[in-house]
Amino acid sequence: MAKIDKHSALIIVDVQRDFCPGGALPVPRGDEVIPILNKYIRLFKEVGASIYATRDWHPPNHASFKAYGGTWPPHCVQGSRGAEFHPSLELSRDVRIISKAQEPWQEAYSAFEGTGLRDDLKGRNIWRVFIGGLATEYCVKSTVLDALKAGFETILLEDAVMGIDAEIGDVERAVKEMMEKGAKKATLSSIIGRDDP
Ligand SMILES: [Zn+2]
Repeated sequence: MAKIDKHSALIIVDVQRDFCPGGALPVPRGDEVIPILNKYIRLFKEVGASIYATRDWHPPNHASFKAYGGTWPPHCVQGSRGAEFHPSLELSRDVRIISKAQEPWQEAYSAFEGTGLRDDLKGRNIWRVFIGGLATEYCVKSTVLDALKAGFETILLEDAVMGIDAEIGDVERAVKEMMEKGAKKATLSSIIGRDDP
């Protein structure tokens, strides 16, 4: 089983107000990942492993917004309330923030796209990444696939992701694709070897 040590990082993908119930582009029950992510945060802190939190960080005229030719309602606009991390997520000051898709023309589902994440991880001698957050079949999947391409041992935190499942089966297909490309799955109990910390 994948071990959390100083060569490991937790990557929390896009747990922002707009992607949670009540937000502009909500993942149904998306906020349910937060209590479990908080447990992972504590676990990673205990062993001194790195923690990253990614965020969509769009300008108001972003190309992914319907009014600018995209497919989504406006969401996660830089500096807006909706772009904030969900207040229940227990992020401390030492968590590294990765902002993505910050230019009007630039879209990025993956936390590796157009950010310094890869180099930052390599620079810290991290080779194993544990990924959770929102949404399973969009930004989580893209981040997992890019982590694999960059050569990281990549673990999907099955109990800390939530998808939209616009078409029934989207989430299942996404998980299958991640596994086929080489990702592994884990849950909190499989990592700590008991049910609850
Ligand atoms: Zn976006």
